[in-house]
Amino acid sequence: MIDGLNHVGEDHICSVCQTEFTNDEGGMLGYIGIIPVAFCPFCFAGICDMVEQMDEREWEGLTDEEKNEILVDAIRHDWNDKVILEQIEAKLKEKNTYD
Ligand SMILES: [Zn+2]
Repeated sequence: MIDGLNHVGEDHICSVCQTEFTNDEGGMLGYIGIIPVAFCPFCFAGICDMVEQMDEREWEGLTDEEKNEILVDAIRHDWNDKVILEQIEAKLKEKNTYD
């Protein structure tokens, strides 16, 4: 439940559809700015879908040039397979992490 600017207790009322739900059922309690909001599992799933649809980013793999750079470094520094995999993972993470 929302009391003033706080979430209290285990029973909640969805800020979108007014359905009652409990912590055990899932959903999400949070704040928009300082305003407490509660989303039942169904509305929370809908909100997540909307956010996902707004996200136009696509996963980016490595270019042939980037793959070659890693292979050249691997030979130059005599990296073992584990190091090569870590380099690939780091490069992919760098290309697919956004602020
Ligand atoms: Zn709801």
